[in-house]
Amino acid sequence: MNQDTIAAIATPSGEGGIAVIRVSGDEAVAVSDKIFAGKKKLAEVDTHTVNYGYIREPDTGVRTEEVLVTVMRAPRSFTKEDVVEISCHGGFVSVRKVLDLLLESGARLAEPGEFTKRAYLNGRIDLSQAEAVIDLIRAKSDRAFRIALKQSEGTLSKRIKELRHRLVELMAHIEVNIDYPEHDVEELTNLFIKDKCSAALADIEHLLQTAQQGKILREGLVTAIIGRPNVGKSSLMNTLAQEERAIVTEIAGTTRDVVEEYVHVNGIPLKLLDTAGIRETSDLVEQIGVEKSRQALSDADLILLVFNGAEPLQPDELSLIEQLRGRQVIAIINKQDLPQQIEIEFLRESFGSEHVVPMSILAQQGIADLEKAIAGLFFSGQVESSDLTYVSNARHIGLLKQARTALTEAHQAAESFVPIDMIQIDIRNAWEHLGEIIGDAVSESLIDQIFSQFCLGK
Ligand code: GDP
Ligand code: ZN
Repeated sequence: MNQDTIAAIATPSGEGGIAVIRVSGDEAVAVSDKIFAGKKKLAEVDTHTVNYGYIREPDTGVRTEEVLVTVMRAPRSFTKEDVVEISCHGGFVSVRKVLDLLLESGARLAEPGEFTKRAYLNGRIDLSQAEAVIDLIRAKSDRAFRIALKQSEGTLSKRIKELRHRLVELMAHIEVNIDYPEHDVEELTNLFIKDKCSAALADIEHLLQTAQQGKILREGLVTAIIGRPNVGKSSLMNTLAQEERAIVTEIAGTTRDVVEEYVHVNGIPLKLLDTAGIRETSDLVEQIGVEKSRQALSDADLILLVFNGAEPLQPDELSLIEQLRGRQVIAIINKQDLPQQIEIEFLRESFGSEHVVPMSILAQQGIADLEKAIAGLFFSGQVESSDLTYVSNARHIGLLKQARTALTEAHQAAESFVPIDMIQIDIRNAWEHLGEIIGDAVSESLIDQIFSQFCLGK
């Protein structure tokens, strides 16, 4: 293998702490040796050792940074190539300096994700794991991080492999029926094919169902808080954010832009949009005509529609309720600490009673009910699936859908007694689409697999 040697800062930029620069490739050790001064040359140290020394400028011989250098020789490294990690005391300038010296000494600056790409290309991880590593870096919540971590450990790959294994078995049965019709094997019936296809389809369906949840956990549920002025939208936002970020006191014109804020409700990340245009005007419906607000509203996955329970419903609120039909709405009846005048039964009929939540944000009451309602809407009440396998990647979702189509066709074909070798093609397609998720549809020899599992001679 002749890979050029790449280098990049592996820790987040910023002041303080220890910063790590990672170098990977055939020349990783040689390049590092050009700028390292220690007891031994790195070329001579044992693999997987940490070595103390200094960075030395090759031209002048001047010693600068004090460093710890870890050498990990191929193939026992993340990329399966020679890897050198240089830890130095943070400070962006000094880290940048070390990186520059490496680049002058023969390394090339790594592209984003290039270390992970090499790990995949060198067979260290499969494609879905590589994608999960990228998700890990972008994860916005603890939970999203844990899911990505699970995926990088291969839970999705494991599911996909099991599914493909079962399809291979099915194909083997079909193959036997085609090639050895006289052979004494289990009679292959269309019923059998239909059964197997249905089971596989159920699994795919389950994985696809996790996709929406996965996306939410990764990117946050885009949430718009709307309602008439003074009903308590900003207070709600602040309560959820547990810090005074949005502006609670009404100073006309203070917030013209849509304020964005990430909060966690029961572990579900919400990307809150406080739509200033909607909340700061007396004519609600007219203001929804404001482009920005309209956009925020139509982009939202979840709408928290806040009412003042101490007042009867207003005409513009009635018209808004009409407009929001078919959307995911939770109606919050705020100000429960005051005598109630709102027509709550009407709201329960409009939104479904489980989506109507009485609250007193002032008294900090009803927050748990709100959390429950949100979890109920998007996670059937239970956020944490037992195994945390969430499909969260658009490419994976697309391939799962293609596999679903192919298997649905196989199922229909079996139902209408289409010749069996035609059905075989559909099943094979499904098998290949699933294989693309883990990146090995092309590399495996289907025939070998089929006959390695089947002992026809017996
Ligand atoms: P917004 O215009 O919808 O954003 O409303 P704000 O959050 O700015 O609140 C308007 C006013 O209502 C403020 O004076 C709040 O203190 C008050 N308020 C918010 N929630 C409650 C509540 O649950 N009960 C009572 N009595 N007042 C509240
Ligand atoms: Zn306000």
